[in-house]
Amino acid sequence: MKKIAILGSTGSIGTQTLEIVRDNPDLKVTGLCAGKNVDLLEKQVREFMPELAVMGDEKCAEDLKHRISDLPVKVLSGMDGMIELATMQSSDMLLTAIVGMIGIRPTIAAINAGKDIALANKETLVCAGHIIIPLAKEKNVGIYPVDSEHSAIFQSMHGENKERINKILLTASGGPFRGMKRDELKDKTRFDALKHPNWNMGNKITIDSATLVNKGLEVMEAGWLFGVPREKIEVVIHPQSIIHSMVEYVDGGIMAQLGMPDMKLPIQYAIFYPDRRPLKGKKVDFFDLKSISFEEPDIETFSGLKMAYEAMDKGGSMPTVFNAANEKAVALFLNDRIRFLEIYDIIRDAMDAHSVISNPSVDDILQSEQEVYERIRAGWGDI
Ligand code: NDP
Repeated sequence: MKKIAILGSTGSIGTQTLEIVRDNPDLKVTGLCAGKNVDLLEKQVREFMPELAVMGDEKCAEDLKHRISDLPVKVLSGMDGMIELATMQSSDMLLTAIVGMIGIRPTIAAINAGKDIALANKETLVCAGHIIIPLAKEKNVGIYPVDSEHSAIFQSMHGENKERINKILLTASGGPFRGMKRDELKDKTRFDALKHPNWNMGNKITIDSATLVNKGLEVMEAGWLFGVPREKIEVVIHPQSIIHSMVEYVDGGIMAQLGMPDMKLPIQYAIFYPDRRPLKGKKVDFFDLKSISFEEPDIETFSGLKMAYEAMDKGGSMPTVFNAANEKAVALFLNDRIRFLEIYDIIRDAMDAHSVISNPSVDDILQSEQEVYERIRAGWGDI
């Protein structure tokens, strides 16, 4: 029996993880956590009967406590609750499917408690990779990527000598606006941006895919996970999302992982690694597919990727600033308060205003995040 706690169980990754739990009777859920979605968390608690349920929001936690008072399930709220969930004695693994930097402290707590991590919450590594990766090594804890590209890279590295990697080829669908220029992008609405051609994901990451900010975050995530410098990570636009990423070795040999665009495969792989379990759903049919294609990313138009490279090169606290500014800019865009291209302007402004702190502590990271939030609040009001 493998026991997992899930941070962000009501979201896109969280609900797909619970589908996997339904199909695998040797998986047991020890803890569930959501932000404000009490209705769904209540349903999940009744179905999976964890020991602990956590709501980010205190009032929602009170509501949940009242609703499930007939069950022997402990209910907590906020960061203290998330840390208790991350470190539960009864769990083997924490699956981090929460959005944003709020995942940093629970992830660190889980590693300190010796729990393996199935990591979807990429913002954690983007901002605190320099703390999390050495800590995981020290505590002998596995970090198993859930992001499909990173799972593909991980799968393409088995049995290989890491010293012999020539480059990582990180694939990207290009999002709904692939091929467009700034003129065509300026009037795009959130409805246009939320229509991802291949993947069905949470709103924030879907907008990040349209801006290519997501790919930038993934380059940073890959850098930390696989210990490879930015110059050795190349983004390749592959609109069909069948090749989930590749690794090229010094002899020119390329290992890749292919599959349908379905997050359940990488989630399941992260949970059961090194085992592979059967998975329902369509498999790749090459005769049906006929052809796949590749393009170079247009980083002048989709400058989210270009600024991510800059943030990665500057290092220290700059990736945090890039990520925090993007988080707020996306929230403004999703509330129809700014236009699509203004997402880039907000990130640019925050990065220009920041003096890099090298080797930031968790407090420095959270302080840099707050400074960005305050700067954006001063310009745009409350979000
Ligand atoms: P969603 O927005 O769909 O879900 C986010 C989850 O986090 C929800 O359960 C939400 O609860 C919870 N949450 C948000 N804020 C808080 C808070 N303050 N306290 C406690 N819980 C909170 O996101 P996704 O599932 O799309 O993404 C999750 C992470 O995985 C992100 O880092 C994303 O980049 C990454 N990822 C996602 C992929 C995907 O296919 N979706 C692919 C690869 C990576 P509530 O429902 O109550 O708001």
